[in-house]
Amino acid sequence: MAETIFHKIINREIPADIVYEDDDLIAFRDIAPQAPVHVLFVPKATVATLNDVEAGQAELLGRLAVAAARYAKAQGFAEDGYRIVMNCNGHGGQTVFQIHLHLLAGAPLGHFGT
Ligand code: 5GP
Repeated sequence: MAETIFHKIINREIPADIVYEDDDLIAFRDIAPQAPVHVLFVPKATVATLNDVEAGQAELLGRLAVAAARYAKAQGFAEDGYRIVMNCNGHGGQTVFQIHLHLLAGAPLGHFGT
């Protein structure tokens, strides 16, 4: 499977502002933030899109969401609220083909659609 820029961050081949890491996932600030807080939660296992998640990897998705919620609580903005988003393929706006959860926070977020 194709290596992405996120694999290079996981492997420390390029720098990133890493805010969390464990054996299975890594989280770092988005290079082009769309909100005052914009952090990406990325599994270390290679999975290109949500369509490619296998049955045995379902827990990984939960771990991304739980890690994002824990980060929100630790940073003190969980009560104010936040948004998590995962884009899939072209119509979903996915540009990096290693699955990742966007955590957006720090200000009221507009409703979204097309
Ligand atoms: P997608 O559009 O695939 O859901 O989101 C990809 C995100 O990765 C974008 O928000 C983009 O700004 C971010 N991104 C792309 N390249 C880099 C990079 O080299 N470093 C970091 N930290 N973020 C990146």
